[in-house]
Amino acid sequence: MSLDDLYQEIILDHYKKPRNRAPDLEPHHVHVHHSNPLCGDEMDLRLRIGGEVSETVDAVVYDGDGCSISMASASAMTEAVVGRTLDDAEDLAEAFRLMMHGEDLRREEDLVDGVAFQGVAKFPVRVKCALLGWMALKDAIATHRAGSNEHEVTHD
Ligand code: ZN
Repeated sequence: MSLDDLYQEIILDHYKKPRNRAPDLEPHHVHVHHSNPLCGDEMDLRLRIGGEVSETVDAVVYDGDGCSISMASASAMTEAVVGRTLDDAEDLAEAFRLMMHGEDLRREEDLVDGVAFQGVAKFPVRVKCALLGWMALKDAIATHRAGSNEHEVTHD
């Protein structure tokens, strides 16, 4: 099996058996809604923050209506970030963003199944789809830090 085939299979697996996909999370501290009109992807992301010394991603769920890439990527994102500090999760989101823009791959191990989406970087029109969940996570953290608990973003 080639690496491309393996990556395809990982993406399909997340699409068919989504991890942490749920319409709600009780309790949660932040809810963001992100849309990608180019493809028609809509995504809700809810984040629960824990941690005693530094704030951590205690739980994260996503839900939405969108293409297989956007939904599968969000599923892989949730697995990669649970238990991380907010700073670390932000850094990982940045590593994913750079990977999707064809830059050097870093934090490969930490991205877990997220690395399977690097092939999507070859299709510029789908890059926003793969980024949607990660951008929603970054925004949820920023929204929390700004002292708010709701935010909506359209990625034109
Ligand atoms: Zn899409």
